[in-house]
Amino acid sequence: MPTVLVVEDERDIREVLRRYLERAGFSVLTTGSGAEALTLFASADLVLLDLGLPDIEGTDLLREIKALGSLPVIVLTARSSTEERIRGLELGADDYVTKPFSPHEVVLRVQAVLNRHGGSAAESEIATYGGGRLRIDDNSHRAWLDDAELDLTPTEWGLLSAIAAAAGRVYSRYELVNRVRGYEYEGYERTIDSHIKNLRRKLGAEGSQVIETVLGVGYRLGLSRDEEQR
Ligand code: CA
Repeated sequence: MPTVLVVEDERDIREVLRRYLERAGFSVLTTGSGAEALTLFASADLVLLDLGLPDIEGTDLLREIKALGSLPVIVLTARSSTEERIRGLELGADDYVTKPFSPHEVVLRVQAVLNRHGGSAAESEIATYGGGRLRIDDNSHRAWLDDAELDLTPTEWGLLSAIAAAAGRVYSRYELVNRVRGYEYEGYERTIDSHIKNLRRKLGAEGSQVIETVLGVGYRLGLSRDEEQR
């Protein structure tokens, strides 16, 4: 799952980009500070960079990123600022988006740039289990059992994907909360059980065999992962 770093001082824009990118299957880091961005580049596969930052000149930051290597950058600029845009491209930006933008368009551009850079964003990454019975697509957040697509909520999908990440391994409720919610929240552990219950119901008659309960510990996937197909 490629990681996109969003460097943007306007919180609303940051959050909307996070939402859209996460929905498209990216892992997302955000910061409103150019100084902090400098510490995060190493963890990113692509940077969405607002050129109008309060603490550091966006173009300086861009020059810095490009000096570090081949990390792709898409600059976010104000519509009026043709000069800024040209400057960005001169400095090696891989693409630009003018504000106000459609977040969906940004996602498409991120995918396109990553593809050009040999990333795997738009390729499907479908893992199969139990001889193809269960299929999980990490990019599109879709899953199928016996060729029927499962209609899952984001939490249910997250749980299934987390449990399937290491087939056969037992995941505690605590760990599942962490993986699905991205933070530690003890009160949430109990509600994991009800999400699992719903998930099993959607998996049909064999729900409890696909997701097994390990008493006193947690849950594990009851199907083994198929060999990678090349
Ligand atoms: Ca700004």
